Amino acid sequence: MGNDPRGYYHSLGVSHEASIEQIKKTYRALAKIYHPDINDDPKAAERFRVISEAYDTLIDPELRKKYDETNTVSEQDAAPPEPKAKVNPVHCSSCAKPTAQPRFLVFRSVVSYIFATQTNPTSGIFCSQCAKKKALRASAISALFGWWGVPWGPINTIKEVIRNSLGGERSPEIDEKLMWQNAVAFLERGDYLLSASIATKLINSTDKGISSAASELLDLLRAQGVEPRSIKQNWRFSFPNFASQIAMVSFLPGVVAASIYLDSAQNNQISTFSSGNSAGSDNEPVIVNQCVDMPTNGEVLSEMGSKLEASHKITVENGSKGDAIVKIKDSLSRNTVAAFYVAEKSKASFDNIPDGSYVVQFANGTKLNSTCDGFLDGTYSQFEGHQKLSTQYDSTSIYTQELVFTLFPALNGNIDIDTIKAADF
Ligand SMILES: [Zn+2]
Repeated sequence: MGNDPRGYYHSLGVSHEASIEQIKKTYRALAKIYHPDINDDPKAAERFRVISEAYDTLIDPELRKKYDETNTVSEQDAAPPEPKAKVNPVHCSSCAKPTAQPRFLVFRSVVSYIFATQTNPTSGIFCSQCAKKKALRASAISALFGWWGVPWGPINTIKEVIRNSLGGERSPEIDEKLMWQNAVAFLERGDYLLSASIATKLINSTDKGISSAASELLDLLRAQGVEPRSIKQNWRFSFPNFASQIAMVSFLPGVVAASIYLDSAQNNQISTFSSGNSAGSDNEPVIVNQCVDMPTNGEVLSEMGSKLEASHKITVENGSKGDAIVKIKDSLSRNTVAAFYVAEKSKASFDNIPDGSYVVQFANGTKLNSTCDGFLDGTYSQFEGHQKLSTQYDSTSIYTQELVFTLFPALNGNIDIDTIKAADF
């Protein structure tokens, strides 16, 4: 048993009787394992420096002899070079726990404004549990806020949610370095089985430094009688996790699609019913309106009361796409005083309106419903405010009023409009 004042034999893991060949072989293996090129941990670089110093001394017969003759540490000026600190296992950047199979991942969430879509990355070294949470969170944000931008909102939302649900954007080169750091960290902690098992997964690394270091490490541990086992794969693709993210992001568009489907199913019912009524045309379902004919421009659809001597007039210019149905309602009782039809790009009037206060509503669309009192694809609006119509008299004349409204384009319309529910029309 000789002296080892600076721990040279210990740090190379060789005996005092080791041959030059043995020292060279061990050094080559350790130099690969701790090489700074494949170890980002500064403690690995420190270890690399120490084994290099030990090697330089023990490989030279004269220096080795001198070192062997040194009796105690006190005869050496410098402190022992053996670093106290060990290479740390990689920690999850989210839960801060050491994780044997870390991954560097990027998850992206999509947030849209009307004409702008923004993609926000969340990146870090994650354990598999935290990665699942991060992926779900990013996809939930996208599901809520990603859809609404034109045109990139839906495109990016779908793209990023699928990527998140498949595990996020990976960087295999970084992951292999992280695993290698773990192989070394568990080696230093005496967990040879885990170290060897991790090394087994890195033998086919595309990084030549890592793959050769991994096989050196395996050789060293096998020589100690350690047989690696396959480690539990905790990054396996999880279908429930994938499905939950897809389901979450499909929910909103699903509701929209369902309402479109129900709407078209309703149309089909009408057309089927109509084809049954019209004899001789069994093959071709045709939408037949119960109101017999398409209304013409200016046609009065409903009217309350008899012809008045002094009455007011409401004129509507329809500059919108599609036809319009105009309803004049008593502002207190909400009874319809009159309804009339204004064809696309046309102008029409109704002139039998008594004194009173009114609201004017209109429905706009291209597909008239079966009762001709609305549109299947209608939008419903109301001109702002109450329209007061009153007859003025003087000694010679009676003065009545005419109100003129313009429908769309909204920017050029003469009066502000409010959107209303179809049921309120
Ligand atoms: Zn974690």
